[in-house]
Amino acid sequence: KEVVEKLNETKNESPKRSNFIQAIIEDDLASGRHQQVVTRFPPEPNGYPHIGHAKSICLNFGLARDLGGRCHLRMDDTNPTTEDVEYVEALKRDVRWLGFEWGEHMYHASDYFEQLYAFAVGLIKAGKAYVCSLSEEEIRTTRGSLSEAGTPSPYRKRTVEENLDLLARMRAGEFEEGAHVVRALIDMGSPNMKMRDPLIYRIKKAHHYRTGNDWCIYPLYDFAHCLSDSIEGITHSICTLEFENNRELYDWFIDNCDVTSKPRQYEFARLSLAYTIMSKRKLLKLVNDNLVDGWDDPRMPTISGMRRRGYTPEAIRHFCDMIGIAKANSTVDFEKLEYAVRNDLNHKAPRVMCVLDPLKVTLTNWPKDKVEMLDASLWPHDVPREGTRPVPFGATLCIERADFMENPPKKYRRLSPGAEVRLRYGYVIKCEEAIKDDDGKVVELRCSVDLDSRSGKPLGRKIKGTIHWVSAQHALPATVRLYDRLFKVEKPGAEGRDFLEELNEDSIKVMEALVEPSIGEDPAGSRYQFERQGYFISDSVDSKTGALVYNRVVGLRDSWAKKQAAKKAPEPAAPKVPKKVKDKPEDGERRRPQKRSRSYERDKARAENPALASRLERYHKEMKLDEDSADLLTGSVELGDFFEAALGALNEPVVVAKWLTNNLMAEIKDASVTELPFDGKAFGDLVKMLHAGTIGGTAAKEVLAQMVKTGQAPEAIVKTKGLEQMDDTQALRAAVESILAQHPGETERFKNGEKKLTGFFIGKVMKATGGKANPKAVRALIEDLTQ
Ligand code: ATP
Ligand code: MG
Repeated sequence: KEVVEKLNETKNESPKRSNFIQAIIEDDLASGRHQQVVTRFPPEPNGYPHIGHAKSICLNFGLARDLGGRCHLRMDDTNPTTEDVEYVEALKRDVRWLGFEWGEHMYHASDYFEQLYAFAVGLIKAGKAYVCSLSEEEIRTTRGSLSEAGTPSPYRKRTVEENLDLLARMRAGEFEEGAHVVRALIDMGSPNMKMRDPLIYRIKKAHHYRTGNDWCIYPLYDFAHCLSDSIEGITHSICTLEFENNRELYDWFIDNCDVTSKPRQYEFARLSLAYTIMSKRKLLKLVNDNLVDGWDDPRMPTISGMRRRGYTPEAIRHFCDMIGIAKANSTVDFEKLEYAVRNDLNHKAPRVMCVLDPLKVTLTNWPKDKVEMLDASLWPHDVPREGTRPVPFGATLCIERADFMENPPKKYRRLSPGAEVRLRYGYVIKCEEAIKDDDGKVVELRCSVDLDSRSGKPLGRKIKGTIHWVSAQHALPATVRLYDRLFKVEKPGAEGRDFLEELNEDSIKVMEALVEPSIGEDPAGSRYQFERQGYFISDSVDSKTGALVYNRVVGLRDSWAKKQAAKKAPEPAAPKVPKKVKDKPEDGERRRPQKRSRSYERDKARAENPALASRLERYHKEMKLDEDSADLLTGSVELGDFFEAALGALNEPVVVAKWLTNNLMAEIKDASVTELPFDGKAFGDLVKMLHAGTIGGTAAKEVLAQMVKTGQAPEAIVKTKGLEQMDDTQALRAAVESILAQHPGETERFKNGEKKLTGFFIGKVMKATGGKANPKAVRALIEDLTQ
């Protein structure tokens, strides 16, 4: 149990931060360039923060926390028309919810308006800024293009006095919007368009949510942002890649204004998630057009939406660690986020039963008024974790409509006429009759119950399936909302398409369900796993005692990927299923449930899917895998696909299978390979490095553990951790020489023919090199050096 807990702990905890920004800061601290790191999260309060902001929050606050510095929360609120205090409150709430705290360091760029104005005056006095009276249109057309220099504004020649006078009158409200702007006087021929006399102030007669009508001129972002950083003593100003070209301007303002502190800007790749959008402008459009149910709609990529959906701060932080900090933009799969969520909820959400689409079951031989209270574990997957709930069992039950089939395919494991099935934690029932309404729809099942079959007792025959159920008389009605992707396409609105046309119309499905009574008066925000259905949370807004509402946080398996796979053509039919039932199917729950009949499950899967069966044959006969490995790898399409993708990197089936079954499957336990943050090809790359001798076995395990945690490519991990094996190089030669010199006695004996000392020396060298030496090379060197 301890080992399991330990594994889970390490799975959930943040991996050690190692990204290029951290490396820069560590160097700056080591060299004494800075005594303390000061970062900031600087949102514009014009919308609710989303998962992309979470990445920036985790990065900025995480760096400050890990490196003994501080992180400010600053509202970059220089644009009066879009900002609002509602958004400020949302930002504060969500940063805190994610687990970060700014203490006394909450700031507003709008608090610096007076100081920013003074900086502008300073630039004018130094002849480095001027009031320009070209129209907006003229400014745009005289800016030039990437291939052509811009045309200097005729107002560049204004005198300092004239500029100061105009600026003061702009501030006093004498001019209409657009009449004048203030521009930095830099270089209209600069190859960097940002440097062609950028605007620093404009007239805007708008009410600001904090400064009211005090100002009718407002600073532009590029000017205000860097100077706000400087005012606050920010050391490392971290932003997303699209600001790379702004860095030159950032530095120009810092160098040309009268500041004491000079922050530096670093850029990282912004987060994009497949099947959703991250632009606050577009998210606002969804809210304003009532296409979603507010900013916290559980389908929204906002932090408040994810909170209401049931995601945890731990899961989001873990996700942000998994995706890492890079310099190249890329789109991350939603599955990765869902993987982090499942991983976190698995040990937090107790199991209960809920029937989403109820079908009435009448037990014909159960005494009509008898109710038996069954004792069901809340943590059946976490044995021996304690905690049970009472589940009433009576004469009328409800099961999932999908768990009954009138004309089932062969080897169907659930209920059908004449077939038996076990009711989870309860008894074995047999369907005697299906009753239909006038339309031919099944409305009730009449079943007999084996009164001697109560769960936990030996039964003496095999029952293939176990299904969940509730007692009709005791169950609580609940509204259940099942969510799907908000958009139909991976990159909504890409290539000039209208993102609104790409909304998924089926992104929410509402069902009237029945949930077991043990949840009682469920407080809003509690999370459960509804067995076989997924993780759910009682909705913080709509769920009330007597009118329970649950949101599905995430399904148990990756239904989305499955759906996509199902669209592809099925594999050609295959020969007969080879017989191999090693582990007999179990009845009841004599063994731990998750251990029960896994091998039976695999046989079942192959029986139902001929493509899998043919794989079993092929793996065993053609690829020469032993029977057990072939069996293990063909229990699901996903695992087989993963294995074959790995072969794409290293076509050594026996080697890859061995590593997959012995190491990866042990590492991920019950999880599916589709939940891993990397694919089969990446796994193959790892085994390939091992096979080629680039890394040793111990190192390979370390790399694998890191891949499971972060999804990083194996090559990158090997590189950053310096795990390459030492071959016959100078360094290894020196290490072997040194070991031989340290053990003159053994060396003498070895020279005299005591060859079994080879192992002794190899062991010493391995230890001295931290396991990095290539044993074959060491062996050869020992021979060589003792000649
Ligand atoms: P939008 O374009 O949606 O308005 P934004 O970048 O303008 O987003 P800000 O409020 O300016 O939003 O962002 C605050 C901080 O969060 C900035 O430092 C920005 O770089 C960072 N950020 C915003 N979106 C992402 C993202 N998708 N991934 C990582 N960081 C992000
Ligand atoms: Mg922005």
